[in-house]
Amino acid sequence: MVHAPARPARDLPPVTVNLYSDTQTRPTAAMKAAMMAAEVGDEQAGLDPTVDTLCDRMARLTGKEAAVFLPSGTMCNRVALLAHCRPGDEVLAHATAHVLSSEGGGAAALGGVQIRPLTGADGQFDVAALTEAVTARSRYQAPQTLLCVEQTANLGGGTIWPVAALHAVAECAHAHGMATHMDGARLLNAAVAAGVPAAEMAAGYDSVWLDFSKGLGAPLGAVLCGSDDFIDRAWMWKQRLGGSLRQAGICAAACLHALDHHVERLAEDHENARLLARDLAQIEGVAVTPPQTNLVYFDADAAGLSAAELAKRLRARGVMISVLGNRLRACTHLDVTRAGVEQALAAIRGVLAAPR
Ligand SMILES: *Cc1c(COP(=O)(O)O)cnc(C)c1O
Repeated sequence: MVHAPARPARDLPPVTVNLYSDTQTRPTAAMKAAMMAAEVGDEQAGLDPTVDTLCDRMARLTGKEAAVFLPSGTMCNRVALLAHCRPGDEVLAHATAHVLSSEGGGAAALGGVQIRPLTGADGQFDVAALTEAVTARSRYQAPQTLLCVEQTANLGGGTIWPVAALHAVAECAHAHGMATHMDGARLLNAAVAAGVPAAEMAAGYDSVWLDFSKGLGAPLGAVLCGSDDFIDRAWMWKQRLGGSLRQAGICAAACLHALDHHVERLAEDHENARLLARDLAQIEGVAVTPPQTNLVYFDADAAGLSAAELAKRLRARGVMISVLGNRLRACTHLDVTRAGVEQALAAIRGVLAAPR
């Protein structure tokens, strides 16, 4: 049984630079103040005004009719797949998609849904790859009912799907009778970096969600958006999964605060990621993929250090970075300053220069 991440060992120094994930952001004092001031009610009964405000705002932001507040992004994917699909259906998603790689088989366990992995560079695929994966409708094939895309593509390198590519695959999926779903965990990172409104990116998608507990800095919460009819079905599944809440406005207030104060600043995270990648590329033995948003993937294989070993040695110097496969992933966010980036770089140089 694998339980990750492990509890930190007692003999490790405190974490001074946390590049592990944008999920590790802590609510700011101003966000906490907004939470304390929130007007609340019974969310399950539709009586929490702050949740209503957040859902209205998210529906507008994504260009959809309605929205529902959920505890996590994983539950957004779960609820969306359950609302779109029936047991025995097939979902098409990139081989590296969160829905396939990181949700404990939830689509299969709870929805009876199988996922067909698509391939393509940077966590993306094109119409040709999608078309090739489309099966004939027959008694032998699982009905293909949903296409999923991830914006940004996390394991793809935090890459941004170009709007034209998003629209092309959505159109192709619809032409084959599938619905379309966008895992927009970091949709606003994409929107800010590309200078394209979220609604334009999500046009052509029957459902889309945004995570508030990543770079937006809220302690929890995600909002799933779609048509009125889709959101009715999503609510049914939210109730069934035990995701209906009570005085959730205290959390929705953090999300509203994030929409007001933490969106434009995502550009700073992207700039820090760019600076980190630029200077990493100068270090001998380090190979780095130029980032498009806030995720920097790199390795030090050529310096003779595995990703796991490098991460371990960095942790001993107070720098926390995640290991995904055989690469390291440094994630910039609200709690990582320019000085923190410099500190991490110094630690990486130190580890690679140390005798071993
Ligand atoms: C983090 C993430 C999720 C899951 O969100 P949680 O809020 O952590 O449950 C889903 N998809 C992608 C692309 C993610 O990065």
